[in-house]
Amino acid sequence: SSAHVIVVGGGFGGATAARYLKRGDPSLKVTLIEPATTFYTCPFTNLYLAGLRRFEQQGHGFDDLRAAGIDVIHDLATAVDSQAKTLTLSKGQKLSYDKLLLSPGIDFRWNTLEGYDEAASLLAPHAWKAGDQTRLLKSQLDAMPNGGTFIMVAPENPFRCPPGPYERASMVAHYFKQNKPKSKILILDAKDSFSKQGLFQDGWKQVYGDMIEWVPFSKDGKVTRVDAAKLSVETEFGEIHKADVLNVIPPQKAGAIAEQAGVTNASGWVPIDPHTFESEQVKDIYVVGDATIASPMPKSGFSANTQAKLAAASIINALSGKPAPQATLSNTCYSLIAPDYGISVGHLYAFADDKLAEASGGVSPKEASPAFRKQEAQYGEAWYAAISRDIWG
Ligand code: FAD
Repeated sequence: SSAHVIVVGGGFGGATAARYLKRGDPSLKVTLIEPATTFYTCPFTNLYLAGLRRFEQQGHGFDDLRAAGIDVIHDLATAVDSQAKTLTLSKGQKLSYDKLLLSPGIDFRWNTLEGYDEAASLLAPHAWKAGDQTRLLKSQLDAMPNGGTFIMVAPENPFRCPPGPYERASMVAHYFKQNKPKSKILILDAKDSFSKQGLFQDGWKQVYGDMIEWVPFSKDGKVTRVDAAKLSVETEFGEIHKADVLNVIPPQKAGAIAEQAGVTNASGWVPIDPHTFESEQVKDIYVVGDATIASPMPKSGFSANTQAKLAAASIINALSGKPAPQATLSNTCYSLIAPDYGISVGHLYAFADDKLAEASGGVSPKEASPAFRKQEAQYGEAWYAAISRDIWG
């Protein structure tokens, strides 16, 4: 065919989709729109905060995707006209598509948490998109005195990377233990439970003693106001906590272009048909990754990668008049508690009563030898290397 498929977003979902569209049907014209010339992954930035990796190690370029025959344009998509089937870029270029795939990731709901807007994030970084924010948080941790307090504000569900805040707390604890052992970590959480909770809490106790304190929603953990200039936060019942370094992970929604395209619903996220990842609201627009409502799949890079492969196959089949592919989706999220202490959660997802459901899977065992935990840390590193090569080459 000579059909044109445009992919918006060169992160986990988008770059995967572009590669597998071209691989699945080399006659397709595939265009990938991504402003950044180097994409920095969020995965493994927590290891950078720990001092275990350099920031540059999370960077991936687009030359290999170009070599695979994909037309990569470094620009921002600003408007979708789903009637005319065109996409407009910030520099004015207008492109026509037969099918459009969006994987724009997340945007933040600034000011939903009082006092936390984009300006506040320059004082109290979120570091929930990788780049300057991540480097800022690292420089603040480096400058913090021994005996200081690191406060993390953790959001309600749903949000990008359910185990991410708790891996971050672990990696900051590792850094403190090596460099600033009198320091404390306080996690103020808007939830009463979190991903791999038992494993994290056992590991924290074992490796870091009482350095990490987690305050759940029901113990007044929910932060309702942020004063970024004073590095302080106020909880629901009026308690003020003062930090030396303040990391606020704010409420989130689908990347802005999804709303502009008309594919989001009142939740701010994108309802999709999980058989194909085509939008439920707008024909010929497919959406994958963090932007979607794909529960029980978590918002992870692994999920985005598998969803993108299904969406690419669905687009190729639709363009050639074939039925949607039969899919089994999967996800594994590795987290590091310490350099030699890895844990994981993994599931297969299949259809039950036409809905996506957990088919099998589970978490790492509660009791395990140090050798087992070390092996999981190595699996996590191998996962990162493998998925990076699969996506960016
Ligand atoms: P992204 O990967 O964020 O890609 C979106 C891309 O779209 C961006 O490059 C952006 O520039 C581009 N874009 C947005 N709007 C436009 C537009 N209008 N025009 C053009 N381009 C646009 N996941 C795991 O699986 N394993 C982990 O270990 C893990 N660790 C994490 C640790 C942290 C600290 C965090 C924050 C996240 C972690 N994640 C992990 C989650 C993972 O980062 C996300 O789930 C994943 O990036 C989602 O992929 P995506 O394609 O939806 O979005």
